[in-house]
Amino acid sequence: MGHNRIYNFSAGPSMLPEPVLERAASEMLNYHGSGMSVTEMSHRSATYDAIIKSVEKNLREVMNIPEGYKVLFLQGGASLQFAMAPMNLISSTGKADYAITGNFSKKAADEAAKYGEVHIAATSKDRNFACIPQQDALDLSKDAAYFHYCMNNTIYGSTWNYIPVTDAPLVCDMSSCILSEPVDVSKYGIIYAGAQKNMAPAGLTVVIMRDDLNLCPFPYTPVMMDYATLAKNDSMYNTPPAYCIYMLGLVLDWVKETGGLEAMKQRNAEKAKLLYDRLDASKMFILGIDREYRSMMNVTFRCETEELNAEFVKGAEAAGLTSLKGHRAVGGMRASIYNAMPREGVLALIDYIDKFEASH
Ligand SMILES: *Cc1c(COP(=O)(O)O)cnc(C)c1O
Repeated sequence: MGHNRIYNFSAGPSMLPEPVLERAASEMLNYHGSGMSVTEMSHRSATYDAIIKSVEKNLREVMNIPEGYKVLFLQGGASLQFAMAPMNLISSTGKADYAITGNFSKKAADEAAKYGEVHIAATSKDRNFACIPQQDALDLSKDAAYFHYCMNNTIYGSTWNYIPVTDAPLVCDMSSCILSEPVDVSKYGIIYAGAQKNMAPAGLTVVIMRDDLNLCPFPYTPVMMDYATLAKNDSMYNTPPAYCIYMLGLVLDWVKETGGLEAMKQRNAEKAKLLYDRLDASKMFILGIDREYRSMMNVTFRCETEELNAEFVKGAEAAGLTSLKGHRAVGGMRASIYNAMPREGVLALIDYIDKFEASH
């Protein structure tokens, strides 16, 4: 990589593709002859209108979003969606089903419980989130307004390897796996994702919502959290995170130029396999997630002792491999290898693992 950049394994905000950063830099002072940067222009200007429309078009193309879905560009992070989904959907029956497979799905369920009855349809807590409940283990309610799950568990490093089948619409947190592989959008009622893992800088949340959902906000649901209002105003009820949306556009151009989501999946799968194979072959590192649920995006592992973990992370930092410390809830190490992490970054980490193991 150029500019003395290092390999950043942070779970988010995380690396952006170098060509995207270069293009953003080159367009910073004067965007396409407008005489200003995108971050300075009115979100109601014709120039910006063309940007947001083309970003939406590109997202629809890249993710193959069918007709009958609205794309929203919002703020508040994925965490605001933990409240927004129930505040718009739960009151139709007063109840929703949640699967708890890690930290963020638990937070989502806790938030929803303020607004209605939350039924825990499945949890892998008894296995310390090392696995994902299978379809036949889902205890689905007859009267759930929706079924919520988190596809990729960023902190534990596990991922759903199937799409649940439910009568209620699926509401899915895809923050840490969106754009990493193709998804069948038509299976979902709502897909949401904070942008800072695979899409853009922090500050943008993408929501993809089926038009025919039974939206029933509470009278007290804030207007800024009312899906229908935001949709009706094409994400322009107020000032959208204009620059982040533009950056998402650059990332989508890069995804298209590098072969789309099928090619992205292949590269991601190859990177993850290289790292998991190396860790599997080691006597020193322990992998906590059952093999069939291992995440392609967040690879978690640890040594026998906290001292060794700390030494690993510190040495990695010195070798230009940053942010490998695991989340405080889990400990150990976490290598987040999102779309923008080049294969060379994974190879550099494997090289460091070789050296670390050989010297102990
Ligand atoms: C990072 C993350 C969140 C939290 O996102 P914010 O944008 O910080 O609110 C929620 N869910 C998942 C799966 C995440 O990876």
